[in-house]
Amino acid sequence: MGPQILAILASITIMVACVTVPGSNRRAINFMPDGQMNSLGLQAYQDVLKTEKKSKNFRMTAVVREIGNKIARASGEKFKWEFNLIDSNKINAFCLPGGKVAVYTGILKVAQNTAGLAAIMGHEVAHAVARHGGERMSHGVLAQAGLAGASLSLSNNKYRGAILGALGVGAQVGVMLPFSRSHETEADVLGMQYMAKAGYNPIEASHFWTRMNKGGSAGPEFMSTHPNPVNRANALRKMASSSKIRNLYARSRKQITKRL
Ligand SMILES: [Zn+2]
Repeated sequence: MGPQILAILASITIMVACVTVPGSNRRAINFMPDGQMNSLGLQAYQDVLKTEKKSKNFRMTAVVREIGNKIARASGEKFKWEFNLIDSNKINAFCLPGGKVAVYTGILKVAQNTAGLAAIMGHEVAHAVARHGGERMSHGVLAQAGLAGASLSLSNNKYRGAILGALGVGAQVGVMLPFSRSHETEADVLGMQYMAKAGYNPIEASHFWTRMNKGGSAGPEFMSTHPNPVNRANALRKMASSSKIRNLYARSRKQITKRL
């Protein structure tokens, strides 16, 4: 093959790997197919559910599912959504690729009310909808190891820790892989759109981060995967008063914010 053909092939590969993030105009390099990511997400979720205890508080579990389903609908994403409340003091929550969501009871006291919980779930769901896990794997150790396109499984893989870290459950297995600042900002932006659309007062996202900051080291799990830009609460307050968010919230069916 001549060098021109090779150059054309290389640019085709890059075009295929370059995707537009749903709900955002950002172009991202992501060569991980949804099917593969969703399968890894499901495996990691089953691991978590096996090792952690599901909450026996059925009322609160129902609240988590109700809010989660509303956020999922607002995101417009057709995942096989699943929402579980984990009985644990850890201040933590995550959404794995494919829409597998875990909320830990420890984070409820920081969420304080339904809109606070909607803010957390909106942010986590946004990481999954925006395919941040696949993007991280495309850039990370798997790409370097030439494993793109390889059949990956968590049960028998020396990259297990790296995969779990990229998926966002690294804190559970002692591998810390914080989301980058740009992914965090994107999840904040999309997450607030979802919560406003679903009818939850978007200002509560800002209040949640104010409480999180006050807790300081109280939230090592959540904080380790969600590095906290100092002015996050302020940025969210400003975002909540933008015309786009105010319009989304105004058009939604209003709900009363209830204490959890
Ligand atoms: Zn995040």
